[in-house]
Amino acid sequence: MALLICPICEVSLSPLRIQHGNIWQCPTCNGVMANIAVLRKYLGNSVVKSFWQKATAESTTAETKCPSCRHSLRSFEIHKDEQTITLDICRRCHLLWFDKGELDAFPKVKTEELSPQTRQELALLKIEYDKQLQEELTHSAMAFNNITDIITSIIRLIVTFP
Ligand SMILES: [Zn+2]
Ligand SMILES: [Zn+2]
Repeated sequence: MALLICPICEVSLSPLRIQHGNIWQCPTCNGVMANIAVLRKYLGNSVVKSFWQKATAESTTAETKCPSCRHSLRSFEIHKDEQTITLDICRRCHLLWFDKGELDAFPKVKTEELSPQTRQELALLKIEYDKQLQEELTHSAMAFNNITDIITSIIRLIVTFP
């Protein structure tokens, strides 16, 4: 990718790894540039869709330039928890610019997927559970206690997952 320039400071942006890809941050003003595709995974489809609709319906030409194509950005306002956040977009490059802290105002999508480690632990518990279930047919009382322990472990795993 060609050099990306901060629309405010005119210095080059640095990649910042997030869960769903890269965003780009200005080392000087800490503003962040993000691609729409990455944002959809990061903030959720409906939030990003509302940004796009707002930008299409009521945006004004900003004085700042797109970090990528250097055409003027478009500014639009989002009302969030009683505050008004002005965001900038380049619809041509599918990029959004967030001033320092603005991206943090939007909640992140929770991870639907369990971590590989948790999934592995759950799989092992399932095997154990099936084994206990077999035993239950023969030694019902003792096995019942074990199954209760396993179920408690499974619930604990799911609940403690961040
Ligand atoms: Zn900057
Ligand atoms: Zn652009």
